Amino acid sequence: MSNGATQITTRLARASRHSRLATPSAASRCLSTAPQRQWSTPLAKTIAEAINTTGPISIAAYMRQCLTSPEGGYYTSRGSPGAEVFGRRGDFITSPEISQMFGELLGVWTVTEWMAQGRRSRGVQLIEVGPGRGTLMADMLRSVRNFKSFASSIEAIYLVEASPTLRAIQKQMLCGDAPMEEIEAGYKSTSKHLGVPVIWAEHIRSLPQGDTDVPFIIAHEFFDALPIHAFQSVASPPSDTIVTPTGPTKLRQPLASSPTQWRELVVSVNPAAEAHAENRLEFRLSLAKSTTPAAMVMPEMSERYKALKSTRGSTIEISPESHAYVQEFARRIGGKADGRSPGRKPAGAALILDYGPSHSIPVNSLRGIKDHQLVSPFTSPGQVDLSADVDFVGLAEAAIKASPGVEVHGPTEQGSFLQSLGIMERAAQLMKRAEDESKRKSIETGWKRLVERGGGGMGKIYKAMAIVPEAGGTRRPVGFGGQVPA
Ligand code: SAH
Repeated sequence: MSNGATQITTRLARASRHSRLATPSAASRCLSTAPQRQWSTPLAKTIAEAINTTGPISIAAYMRQCLTSPEGGYYTSRGSPGAEVFGRRGDFITSPEISQMFGELLGVWTVTEWMAQGRRSRGVQLIEVGPGRGTLMADMLRSVRNFKSFASSIEAIYLVEASPTLRAIQKQMLCGDAPMEEIEAGYKSTSKHLGVPVIWAEHIRSLPQGDTDVPFIIAHEFFDALPIHAFQSVASPPSDTIVTPTGPTKLRQPLASSPTQWRELVVSVNPAAEAHAENRLEFRLSLAKSTTPAAMVMPEMSERYKALKSTRGSTIEISPESHAYVQEFARRIGGKADGRSPGRKPAGAALILDYGPSHSIPVNSLRGIKDHQLVSPFTSPGQVDLSADVDFVGLAEAAIKASPGVEVHGPTEQGSFLQSLGIMERAAQLMKRAEDESKRKSIETGWKRLVERGGGGMGKIYKAMAIVPEAGGTRRPVGFGGQVPA
């Protein structure tokens, strides 16, 4: 809970958001470091050695190492007492950790979707990607237990989690002391709320998928943790020259080329002397010296990116891993695009809640967060949380492309989404039942923080987006303009 003067920051740090990924004007590459250089973390040394061997790496490769490396990645090594991720003693706070109402209302949303889709009595899967401490799922389960016929349609709960430490915390939260066993997909225990299996996997692709499954997928503050690539449009080099690994080579016949090309922003090692001068940043961003396969392929994937190519200096961020995840959501709900799942009748839904612009492509959004402060993403790799804005329209496009059986609603602001699910009414109910004034106060500050649009509020910056079975635009889910089904 956050109240009083020391308000805990959410993952989306508010200050100087656009200074995190400063775009350098000149290409730079550092291939050597001083012999006795001291690194802030063992992971910093590993990353620097890799860069010294292969040359600068993509932001995506850097983020992946920093967040989920088995050797000291942020999520893979933190979460235990003394190294908390969430809350006052951790690095940031998230909506489910602010108020139980958040998870409860996502539970209500799931029930409304299930009702609108004909109340299937079997085959419901609750899937959460990136469940953190398991608080959201626990609150959801407590609330859906009140809807008996929905609760009895749930066959299993699936959690996609990269961190063994957080998996152990989720297990305690959702299964208590029930035994946990290793299975092919990952791990399995039993829900203390519903008595059904709880199954953990490291990737959604490891989860079972059948024609009659009804998957309800929740992704809260998950996509912002997935690696991004960043590209900048620059003037193309003279068309009679190509840059090869050994340097520029003159061609006998000039190539037909456009006046601009995409170049990837890459991470290189800061030389020791400069690291000292620049407040000890160990790594830095620079423009790749020449075009890379990623720069040739990724920005060509969407008309939105292509439209910016001719404007020199435009920068775009693309997260192929996010696209792969959302495509998997879409195929699980709506069936595959190539007709390989003819037996599947679209069913289920995905609800994505995160921060990022409603329409535009994210730019310069990579940030580091430590102890509730914005810090450079290029210090203390593995001890700093990294995140980037989510490209909601990019996710929507990818989902629709992946499955003809889905449609996308939103993004809409979190504040209005939660209000249409009845957060004020739920808060009033909880406040009536609260034993004392301090409990009442914390319920009040909690719900306000989730919906308020200004100050420290999360109502405007955070967005909700839903992927549901295709219905020709005739039906709107609750929270996206639709009514609670009768
Ligand atoms: N949804 C939670 C936690 C958000 S933090 C909440 O709102 O409180 C991000 C979560 O995603 C953590 O559980 C983290 O361990 C997990 N995660 C991050 N990257 C991941 C990846 N590549 N694969 C699976 N899980 C990942």
